[in-house]
Amino acid sequence: MNELPLWAKRIGPWIFVIIPVVSSWFVLSVSPPETFRAPAFVTGLAGFAILARLWLPLRQSIKGRQKARPALIGTGTLAASFIIVGMLATVYRDLFLPLASGAFVGFFFTNAVLLAYYVTWKSRLLPCARCDKLRAFLRDGKDWYCPTCGKRWSSPDSRQRSMEDANPASSKPL
Ligand SMILES: [Zn+2]
Repeated sequence: MNELPLWAKRIGPWIFVIIPVVSSWFVLSVSPPETFRAPAFVTGLAGFAILARLWLPLRQSIKGRQKARPALIGTGTLAASFIIVGMLATVYRDLFLPLASGAFVGFFFTNAVLLAYYVTWKSRLLPCARCDKLRAFLRDGKDWYCPTCGKRWSSPDSRQRSMEDANPASSKPL
């Protein structure tokens, strides 16, 4: 299989940001106004925002540098929570429909926000000199590291950095 072109790699994640935002907006727009005043709505919103955070991996690994911290809940637990809320909303509509719409928005909106944060702040598509491939480098402090081989990114146009790297007195070699 051919590798995806660069534009697709850059745009791809944003599709998964836009879809949850649009569908959350849709759920909010079809919910009756009293939904937003119901405590169940806020409960669902907060509860599933937390579930979304716990369902995503807490930290990715960088080879030789940091270990991954896996997600705290699995997709099964998440799906079961959604099914329970969905069933309650069908049986006791008045009571649980606000909970269900809060849950939907809380989960999908949180996912979108966390993914946007990851794409814009935590990771960056850079060519890895060691893997000889474009990789999603991960931020660690002020530096970027290839998660697959652990190589630190050094920009070809940052003269300062490469001079520091070339001078063994000011920095130790990798
Ligand atoms: Zn690499």
